[in-house]
Amino acid sequence: MFDHVDFSSLELPAPAQTLRDEVRAFLKGEVDAGRIRPHLGHTEFNAEFTRKVAARGWIGMTWPRRYGGQERSYLERFVVTEEMLAVAAPCAAHWFGDRQTGPSLLRHGSEKLKEQFLPAIARGECYFALGMSEPGAGSDLAAVRTRADKVPGGWRVTGQKVWTSWAHKAHAFFVLCRTSPETGSRHEGLSQLVVMLDAPGVTVRAVRFMNGHHHFNEVFLDNVFVPDDMVVGEVGAGWKQVTSELALERSGPERYMTTYPLLTELVRRLGRSDDPRARETVGRLAGRFWALRRMSLAIAKTLDPAAAASHAGADLATEAALVKDMGTFYEREIVEGARLLCEIEPTPEAADTFERWLAETLVCAPVATIRGGTTQVLRTLIARRLLGPLK
Ligand SMILES: Cc1cc2nc3c(=O)[nH]c(=O)nc-3n(C[C@H](O)[C@H](O)[C@H](O)COP(=O)(O)OP(=O)(O)OC[C@H]3O[C@@H](n4cnc5c(N)ncnc54)[C@H](O)[C@@H]3O)c2cc1C
Repeated sequence: MFDHVDFSSLELPAPAQTLRDEVRAFLKGEVDAGRIRPHLGHTEFNAEFTRKVAARGWIGMTWPRRYGGQERSYLERFVVTEEMLAVAAPCAAHWFGDRQTGPSLLRHGSEKLKEQFLPAIARGECYFALGMSEPGAGSDLAAVRTRADKVPGGWRVTGQKVWTSWAHKAHAFFVLCRTSPETGSRHEGLSQLVVMLDAPGVTVRAVRFMNGHHHFNEVFLDNVFVPDDMVVGEVGAGWKQVTSELALERSGPERYMTTYPLLTELVRRLGRSDDPRARETVGRLAGRFWALRRMSLAIAKTLDPAAAASHAGADLATEAALVKDMGTFYEREIVEGARLLCEIEPTPEAADTFERWLAETLVCAPVATIRGGTTQVLRTLIARRLLGPLK
């Protein structure tokens, strides 16, 4: 069934192990000096930190050198991501560009778009957001109503996006929109455009999270002019492009490690507890972590251009959906396990790291199974692949 991905155990290559030590030492220095103060729940936006990560060559690290990359392997990138998540490092400024929009530009973008954006993303100077969801078009993404009308030299874009993470700080975003009226198939006639967030006609408005955190936005597009050379890939091929991007969004360690630091703090707090409940919980969580990591690693290896030569263009959407579905439930299990084992009243202001992180993850727990595709939608996707379309 999953013939593109080899899920058997794999040993990380020596350069990846060396890299892990480097990344770990760098992050320890940042934490010890108080330059970063890890928060759980949301990845923080910290432009200075992003520039330091970029200076070490850890953004766009798998990309060709001519676009600012380092031509390193996906497994090495995996190690960097793991280490960043293990200390909840503030990666929001480069997360989307590094993981999604950069690879998408590499795959579908014109030479001009690649040269304009990739080196700037890799230098940690250009930040991207994702403009997919709309009111009435989240799970049902093909229902987007944002429209781009052809005009001389470009397009006029009108519509509204919602839940746009970090649009208030990003320079540009990928906008999925309708470039021709719906005919028979809802998946036809959609395109992806790069829209600058400071362009005339763009309004970004905050949607605050229940703890007051400003992460989300609504973005209104009112007759925004977008030049022809900002179209990503082919006009009308937006659906195919956006769904291949989602596979990148769903398979990485960020889908099962956002609450991982809470697990390590829990283990520290429990110490050598004799409580059988504690042993059972920690054993189960550790075992499941290992299984998820193996799945995610196997996909990262398959995505590697060198390793993937034999299955170029393989669609890993189902495998990625499995990681995200199982991974996001696992993230909640960590929070639930910690809550049940430690009878405390957590507050986000607590001086104690464990208490603070428990409070932060409890507030944010619902988001994991929604962002990047809800549980129900992922399971439909998996079931379709396993069982075939409904008759
Ligand atoms: C933290 C976070 C960050 C996000 N960042 C971004 C971003 O940067 N850019 C962006 O574009 N979007 C972003 N989103 C939006 C996210 O992708 C959508 O919220 C998600 O796809 C769900 O869409 P919706 O909110 O419209 O819910 P709906 O689609 O209205 O779903 C509501 C409920 O109905 C269920 N449902 C819907 N359709 C079906 C079906 N066919 N079968 C069974 N059940 C169904 C869903 O599972 C869900 O439980 C973010 C969301 C979160 C939580």
